Amino acid sequence: MLANGRTYLAIPGPSVMPERVLGAMHMAAPNIYEGELHDMVARLKPDLARVVGTAHNVAIYIGNGHAAWEASLANVIAPGDKVLVLATGRFGIGWGETAARLGAEVEHIRFPWGQPVDPAQVEAHLRAKGPYRAVLVCQVDTATSVKTDIAPIRAAIDAAGSEALLMVDCMASLGCDRFEMDASGADVVTAGCQKGLMTPPGLAFVFFGPRAEAAQRGDAASIYWDWRARAHPEIFFQHFGGTAPTHHLYGLRAALDMIFEEGLENVWRRHRVLSEAIWAALEAWDIGGALRPTVPERADRAWSVTTVEAGGDNGQRLRRFVEQQAGVTLGIGLGAEVPAGFFRIGHMGHVNAHMVLGVLGCIGAGLKALDIPHGQGGLDAAMDVIARA
Ligand SMILES: *Cc1c(COP(=O)(O)O)cnc(C)c1O
Repeated sequence: MLANGRTYLAIPGPSVMPERVLGAMHMAAPNIYEGELHDMVARLKPDLARVVGTAHNVAIYIGNGHAAWEASLANVIAPGDKVLVLATGRFGIGWGETAARLGAEVEHIRFPWGQPVDPAQVEAHLRAKGPYRAVLVCQVDTATSVKTDIAPIRAAIDAAGSEALLMVDCMASLGCDRFEMDASGADVVTAGCQKGLMTPPGLAFVFFGPRAEAAQRGDAASIYWDWRARAHPEIFFQHFGGTAPTHHLYGLRAALDMIFEEGLENVWRRHRVLSEAIWAALEAWDIGGALRPTVPERADRAWSVTTVEAGGDNGQRLRRFVEQQAGVTLGIGLGAEVPAGFFRIGHMGHVNAHMVLGVLGCIGAGLKALDIPHGQGGLDAAMDVIARA
């Protein structure tokens, strides 16, 4: 009844597309043989590298995040290679499944639900069970919204004397949460355009540094997945292994312009403050575990997505209420034993204070309408965070 009006997809990707990005895509097809598109792509790649904090290689694929997973692995993993997955949720497991299908021997360290990677455990595991070809980890696992600090994992790998490549999934955190690839010691980073980069799904990115480049498995990767020509093309079409994703590139260009105009530090800060507003509301509503963020420690929470446990099938009931009565779509529970008990709030990319307060107000209305027991003052607590910022 109250949902008509502008709807809001508040899920962890695809994210809200700025009008400026959509407008930049609304154009006649450009010449792909020469001219403006070529100049634009030549500037786009260094700008992408800047967002991820690397001085090294960028390979772009037409695909979603799963394509980035496969592309990254196909270049460095051969059948029989040992791969260690540091799993903080469903997405890390999924990347490992991709490695297993490519023939890798995949092992896991599974961290408790809501907890980040413990580097000491990684070091001990590598010493006891190594050598591994690669270690896979999500900076943010979008199922749990757990964030893991990457530099200490690099330190753990080095301390164990391991040669393993450190491969990091930044799909849900790039352009939202602070990350600097080279400074973190990551060898490979995977990402996509449809989350913090605010562009419709369709572009997958693999960033790789010198150690990963040296570890490339020759011609083992298919021509399509091989990152060498894409990172060092001699002819324009090699950037994309075929036809350029023309309109996506113009959309991404507009998104990167928006990020640099705001300033990357400011983009990160905006995401952090908006996250704090969400956490403040959840903490006020939480009365002994009925409705609580999955990640107990604030330092371990993503700035792009928040997973909430609501108990029973309350996650599903709340999602239905806010969609049908308020025009807001929340993310489904993923990877939990009873997914219906969870919901996720996406707050990545083109999101500001009024959107976050609106989502929280609609969730608050749902808690009342559905008689879900909760504490008072959630929205007030969120307003205080916005007011203080
Ligand atoms: C979204 C996401 C993916 C997968 O991306 P798709 O576009 O759905 O294939 C992988 N890893 C993380 C951490 C994600 O958030």
